[in-house]
Amino acid sequence: MDNDYIKSIHLKDKLLLHPYENLKDRGTYDRHLMLNADGIYLYDENGKKYIDGPGGMWCNNIGHGNKEIAEAVKKQMEKMDYASPFSESTEPAAELASVIADLTPGDLNTVFFTTDGSTANDSALRFVMLYNNIIGRPNKKHIITRDKAYHGSTYLTGSITGKDREKNFFDFEKNFIHHIGNPDPYRRSSEQSEEEFCKEKVSEFENKIIELGPDNVAAFIAEPIMASGGCIVPPENYLKEFWKICKKYDILFIADEVVTAFGRLGHFFSSEKIFGITPDIITTAKGITSGYMPLGALIISDRLMEQVRKESTLLFHGFTYSGHPACCAAALKNIEIMKRDKILDHVKSISPYFMDKLKNLNDIPIVGDVRGMGLMAGIECVIDKESKDPLTLDKAIGSRIDQESLKLGLIIRPLYHICVLSPALIINKNQIDDLVQKLQLSINKAMNQIKDEGLWVKSNNE
Ligand code: PLP
Repeated sequence: MDNDYIKSIHLKDKLLLHPYENLKDRGTYDRHLMLNADGIYLYDENGKKYIDGPGGMWCNNIGHGNKEIAEAVKKQMEKMDYASPFSESTEPAAELASVIADLTPGDLNTVFFTTDGSTANDSALRFVMLYNNIIGRPNKKHIITRDKAYHGSTYLTGSITGKDREKNFFDFEKNFIHHIGNPDPYRRSSEQSEEEFCKEKVSEFENKIIELGPDNVAAFIAEPIMASGGCIVPPENYLKEFWKICKKYDILFIADEVVTAFGRLGHFFSSEKIFGITPDIITTAKGITSGYMPLGALIISDRLMEQVRKESTLLFHGFTYSGHPACCAAALKNIEIMKRDKILDHVKSISPYFMDKLKNLNDIPIVGDVRGMGLMAGIECVIDKESKDPLTLDKAIGSRIDQESLKLGLIIRPLYHICVLSPALIINKNQIDDLVQKLQLSINKAMNQIKDEGLWVKSNNE
């Protein structure tokens, strides 16, 4: 491709403020410009091929470059580009609502479309407020969420997110939002069994409800597996116990399946199939279109919808692009392909191989934990396997691994000292071998750098 053209794109890109961009360094470097995509791979301006380790942002489920989805979107746009969801309906939105209602557990049959995961979670919280107002419980408004959770980037979802970096630099809502501890079994005390750790978390939740007063607590929101919190897989039965407590105190359980739905864990939705729970509300996005078009959804139980039917109140909530026909057409084709090509069966059969291969990384002295489920994984680096001290920011281990893996043609998504992976669900064994080998080399190189620079003060496991 013409060099001057590429240069001009890099210059224009400096006008673009990217998500999570470092405001200080902004404009001082060129990002990799991705020009093509195919399967699990992305190709940059020099034609260099990269394994897309995080599958975009946990969203590229059926793989890149799918022509059938492109065709479905084109066909819909040519037939009928847009009609207002406030007053009319469209074929793809209605079809998709019905397909989703069939895939969700229990009586979750009412689908509200949003533009992404943040607006799905924001809408869920707004619905919860409306619900309690309509049924005459105006005080039941408090929301319980968890440390390290990520639920989005609107004001409200930024507030229920449990990461200090997302909250501290913005003002956030504190009056009715409460954070409890996250369920990371790797970080439990050495004297505790996983079962005891789970019990502790469950008690913490129940105590928080009692402290706030059950009549004041509206909902608990949780990702079944915390994604950007570092791929945290909770102890067995943790979610079920939380769900039972929600039932006991009449608190709504919102499952944020923005990442864990649409095949990531081998099922269309994981709440019931894997964790044995039927939430009151499920939110989803990302894999619903495999990232080809922006779309989110909120699926509400019949029980709740019946209760709000009692009053003649407008929903007073909606987006111009709720159920955008082209986005819904992409989602319909995406789900059709997943079913036709038995992609969920593939995830079920290949994920043990994926995890087994990744577990080999445990042999590296700075790798403390390798965890995951389905095709999502987290590799946590620590300076000392015993004390589990994370490699701190000043050593920038995540970005060092990132730099090294990019050289080798692998994109990872470093979250400080944790590398997270969620490749396209069509990944095969050879590609897994390649990915793991590249990651192994990158972590070793980064480790040697901090050793050479005298930053690795402890030298255990050597
Ligand atoms: N919920 C979870 C679990 C997520 O991982 C994300 C994004 O990464 C979101 C919500 C927000 O989704 P979006 O970026 O589509 O708004």
